[in-house]
Amino acid sequence: MDVQPIFPGKAAPFVIAGPCSAESREQVLEAARRLSLLPSVTAFRAGVWKPRTHPGGFEGHGEEALEWLRQAKAETGLPVATEVATASHVEACLRAGIDILWLGARTSGNPFAVQEIADALRGTDVAVLIKNPISPDLELWAGAIERIYGAGIRRIAAVHRGFSTFGGTSQYRNAPLWTIPLQLSVRYPELPVIHDPSHVGGRRDLIEPLARQALDTGFSGLIIESHCHPDEALSDAAQQITPERLGDILGNVIGRRSSQPTPHLEKLRAEIDAVDSELLDVLARRMAISRNIGEYKRNESMSVLQATRFNDLIADRCKRGSNLGLSDKFLRTVFNAIHDESVATQLRIIDNPSE
Ligand code: PEP
Ligand code: MN
Repeated sequence: MDVQPIFPGKAAPFVIAGPCSAESREQVLEAARRLSLLPSVTAFRAGVWKPRTHPGGFEGHGEEALEWLRQAKAETGLPVATEVATASHVEACLRAGIDILWLGARTSGNPFAVQEIADALRGTDVAVLIKNPISPDLELWAGAIERIYGAGIRRIAAVHRGFSTFGGTSQYRNAPLWTIPLQLSVRYPELPVIHDPSHVGGRRDLIEPLARQALDTGFSGLIIESHCHPDEALSDAAQQITPERLGDILGNVIGRRSSQPTPHLEKLRAEIDAVDSELLDVLARRMAISRNIGEYKRNESMSVLQATRFNDLIADRCKRGSNLGLSDKFLRTVFNAIHDESVATQLRIIDNPSE
């Protein structure tokens, strides 16, 4: 992939910051001015067409707000970015001189919409960011990137904003599933991947730890929502932070970084870290089911230990695990340990009816 820099002459990490939505001229200009005082901020963002899950929410001011972005750029010198979802959005942005367009998560999973946008982009050299689709589907994300690249766009980057998963996740608004962006960057090593801690975390207090993890992992930059009066924001209020708070966070996560890590080893280690956090989530989910089983057995006065069930389970897991290239010894150790913990959990529930 022949990828050209989004920000020529600027070194990573890039930081794109600004409110979730452009709400008024004054709100846009105040945010842009205050953000432009932060040396690490590379570009200003604000959504003008807002895709809302339910009707009735604030859907953005549309084309008239592009003029506010243009003005923010003229005053601060920061390149400006907004979301596009249709060919007519692209045309309006090109007319207004918007520097960076992004495809949102609800668009990048729809190949018809992505192709329509790609066709509208053909022949321009505007920069384009492609957010991961809502669903945890690497191929759909890669396909959207290929369509934009196929239209001749070379200044591109991917944005990792987390994924919707069945049943949600306890901690995050959108599950990070770090292995997916890591696999994307293994497939396209030249493609910058930017992390969006605002939409992954959905909460102000998660911005810093997520941003730090992303930079430690080797991501090329961050896109972070920042609003001068976060509690009054018309969209995504819970995850927006003031420009000054953003400045503190960037000082903490970028300021302390040493310049040259060993990229390949870092990537592989990051992949291991990501798989381990998935493993931990899976183990926690399995133990939660054991607790439900314990409660059921207690209510039905059944015994905890049911040896035939365990023997069948171990035989099945060893067979399936060995088909995946895992050793019998390893599988027995792991499943015995899991089973021991599950039995202990169930016994605790039976012995402590109040739990
Ligand atoms: C946004 O960046 O404000 C946005 C709507 O993001 P996403 O498409 O990731 O939900
Ligand atoms: Mn948002």
